[in-house]
Amino acid sequence: MINLGLRHLQQSLQKQQISSAELASVYLDRCRQFNPTLNALLYIADDINPEQLLTAQSAPGPLAGIPLIHKDLFSTRQVPTTAGSRMLANYVPPFDATVVSHLNNAGMLTLAKANMDEFAMGSSNEYSAFGSVKNPWDLQRVPGGSSGGSAAAVAARLAPVATASDTGGSIRQPAAMCGITGIKPSYGRVSRFGMVAFASSLDQGGVMAVSADDCALVLAAMMAYDDKDSTSIKADAWQWQAPQEASMQGLKVGIIPGWIEQLKDNDIKQSTLAALDTLVAQGAQLIEVDLPHAELAVAAYYILAPAEASANLARFDGIRFGHQSAAKSLDINDMYRKTRSEGFGHEVQRRIMLGTWALSSGYYDDYYCQAQRIRRLISEDFKQAFSQVDVMAVPVSPEVAFKHGEKSDGVSMYQADQFTIPASLAGLPCLSMPIQPARGLPVGLQLIGPYFDEHVILSTASKYQLVTDYHQQMPGAFL
Ligand code: GLN
Repeated sequence: MINLGLRHLQQSLQKQQISSAELASVYLDRCRQFNPTLNALLYIADDINPEQLLTAQSAPGPLAGIPLIHKDLFSTRQVPTTAGSRMLANYVPPFDATVVSHLNNAGMLTLAKANMDEFAMGSSNEYSAFGSVKNPWDLQRVPGGSSGGSAAAVAARLAPVATASDTGGSIRQPAAMCGITGIKPSYGRVSRFGMVAFASSLDQGGVMAVSADDCALVLAAMMAYDDKDSTSIKADAWQWQAPQEASMQGLKVGIIPGWIEQLKDNDIKQSTLAALDTLVAQGAQLIEVDLPHAELAVAAYYILAPAEASANLARFDGIRFGHQSAAKSLDINDMYRKTRSEGFGHEVQRRIMLGTWALSSGYYDDYYCQAQRIRRLISEDFKQAFSQVDVMAVPVSPEVAFKHGEKSDGVSMYQADQFTIPASLAGLPCLSMPIQPARGLPVGLQLIGPYFDEHVILSTASKYQLVTDYHQQMPGAFL
């Protein structure tokens, strides 16, 4: 049962072959059984909230009674929400994030909250204040980050679906490293209300699941205009039609040969080329495109994201929010210093310092403004590319999941985002789907679409998943 898609689970519920309470308890048992090995979850419900169970039973639509896990940066009413930080270790929100309310209303049942890099900063999930997450395919390796808890949980089938967030790659990169499907919709599609902020102009909620079809079913319930988020988009209700046949006749797929050449791992290169061959065999036409400014994306992102983070994280001052140092302070500045030194981990402190520096007078024009210009140029590059193609297919990560502790300096970790950051800077919808593994470890292919065209990337992925079964493969130890 743990390998059935949402549509099958829904059928079993409708035919009363299983009740939603039983389904939830199958997954809750798995959470309890496997979490000590994976450390993917920071909170596991004792039982399913009876109120939720009632809504689930009466909710219309395909998600009624389907269990899920939320990344621990979505605020959940009366359930701890830590954002992977000591700063919020004891925070229990009095409200639900908009995403959480939408999914509750659709009848989904929250089983647990997923571990993550502190404040979603990281590419390996080693920066959580609550310990690193293990990759279910090889416990010595990282699951990717920052949504590594969500990705490891879905890969080990602790739930069929998990929410996640992506600022520079945090859905796509862990999805690729854990062998599951994960989508970040266009910026503005999913409300950020109640989602702990990292870099507000980039942060976007999304979803991880086994297949693109499952992601789409959940995304349809998540995406809606929200007047509580000023960057939320007013658009017609989004509808998902799952493709019935695998033909990609007439689809123009953009590829960037230079990015494929940059893949130093030959097995990843071969599996990327094989996936592109499959798209061609399904009728797609490959067209070479270029994003000439994308090589500057990592540098620009690591100015812009820390700059926004330094402003967003100013609210954690020990008075209004979160942890307060118990040590004796000389004055209020001393109290701030002690509180923030104890509450934030090293990577978060580094970003706050970098961001504050980039925004300070004298450096603002040279760094922050330049980075904004590069961001604009990258958006223009994409516009140009999408005047020639319907969708782009590019690598997700230059490497398979690496070993814990292998990337000890910040910069080599930052480079791991080279293929995911460009679409984030442009705010475009993008996903990662599993392709042929390399040396037994998962590999992903990234599909990027034009603004607000989540449909093209999801239907392309669904068609690919009609003719392949990489997305259904599970790590043996968790069967
Ligand atoms: N790895 C990137 C960072 O550390 C992206 C994180 C994210 O998307 N939340 O900022």
